[in-house]
Amino acid sequence: MFEKILIANRGEIALRVIRACREMGIKSVAVHSTADSDAMHVRMADESVCIGPAPSGQSYLNKAAIISACEITGAQAVHPGYGFLSENAGFAQALEDHGLTFIGPTADHIRIMGDKITAKDTAKALGIPVVPGSDGGVPDLETALKVAEEIVYPVIIKATAGGGGRGMKVARSAEELEIAFRTARSEAKAAFGNDEVYIEKYLQKPRHIEIQVFGDGKGNAVHLGERDCSLQRRHQKVFEEAPGPCITPKLRAEIGEVCASAMRKLKYIGAGTIEFLYEDGEFYFIEMNTRLQVEHPVTEGIFGVDLVREQIRVAAGLPMSFTQSDLEINGHCIEVRINAERLPNFAPCPGKVKVFHAPGGLGVRMDSALYGGYSIPPYYDSLIGKLIVHGRDRPEALARLKRALSELIIDGVETSVPLFHMLLAEPDIQNGEYNIHWLEKWLAEQF
Ligand code: ADP
Repeated sequence: MFEKILIANRGEIALRVIRACREMGIKSVAVHSTADSDAMHVRMADESVCIGPAPSGQSYLNKAAIISACEITGAQAVHPGYGFLSENAGFAQALEDHGLTFIGPTADHIRIMGDKITAKDTAKALGIPVVPGSDGGVPDLETALKVAEEIVYPVIIKATAGGGGRGMKVARSAEELEIAFRTARSEAKAAFGNDEVYIEKYLQKPRHIEIQVFGDGKGNAVHLGERDCSLQRRHQKVFEEAPGPCITPKLRAEIGEVCASAMRKLKYIGAGTIEFLYEDGEFYFIEMNTRLQVEHPVTEGIFGVDLVREQIRVAAGLPMSFTQSDLEINGHCIEVRINAERLPNFAPCPGKVKVFHAPGGLGVRMDSALYGGYSIPPYYDSLIGKLIVHGRDRPEALARLKRALSELIIDGVETSVPLFHMLLAEPDIQNGEYNIHWLEKWLAEQF
């Protein structure tokens, strides 16, 4: 087992990893930018190293500085969290070249899944159902029009290198496609430095259902059921739950086994998420994330496992601590993402937190790096906390969420908490009847 792990991240996810390390008796090293000297992850880790100025390009994305920090502190492995360098194959490779362990999948697997076309081709070859669409990249408008005719409008144009919900354009007719194709390409070029795009059938009322997988890199792999992440704004998740309200045990076992078997064939190591759109009883692969996800706690809650601990174990060459038959669902979990943002337009709202009080009690977990007196810097993501609740069933989890939200105090900055109070009052949310378009439609009616 490692003696010391460096966490190449900040905020709540850095705390999440430090906590797992501490329970395992492993020393932790925090890295931080100059803007984060007072951040909670720096205070909580055993050691810390400043790796550069505020902009993440010069600090949290600075591979050389992070590798140097490992050498200075004697850290043997790096946990990347999510975002930043977590899906950067070059970083995983650079660590390996320096004799350090990347706590995550191999550089090859990151590369395959990071390119959405290769990912889709690989998924198909592994027996995973995919969304109908173009065969790889679409080089010109003529081809785009032909593909769209074949798969029937509406279609969605997506950037091969896309991520974070960016670089997607919907077209409902040939006229719309012409504009959408051009803008998607120029936006992809600007955002990702790669203007390759592909086309998919645009599903009208799907739910976003993702399967958590986990492998040991030696050909053993399991699935840990699904999360329903359909409540999205601008393709970004805001509310996640497990199990999915519309997924039966039979559906779960079937799609779960398809995914686990694919991971066994790949000899995948560590945590991964296979994302699907689900409509009328069918699953359609959209992408795979080769890392821990923001919403992983809902899965931890219903299975009672620590996914970060498992990541560290398999990275150190140990077996997973569970098999498929050990994994039984217990109750229901919901997570809400608390952002420092101002409603109704969701403008980022950094600033000083005067008072912070986290909710507690049975079935409540608050993952947050906030503290009273902390100044949220304007340079990074607006996620400031995740409130996760567990109940014996969905109604109990909903009631607990409402109760926990009413206890939460974040004074000094505006947050997305009022949004969740409003959502919980909606019959569709209470009944679990929502798809990926529900939230945008509802927001347009409210504000
Ligand atoms: P990203 O990597 O940018 O998050 P994804 O491919 O995971 O992009 O898609 C993000 C979201 O965009 C999905 O959860 C869904 O809401 C929407 N989306 C993606 N593909 C389609 C599609 N073919 N039809 C309808 N909606 C889609």
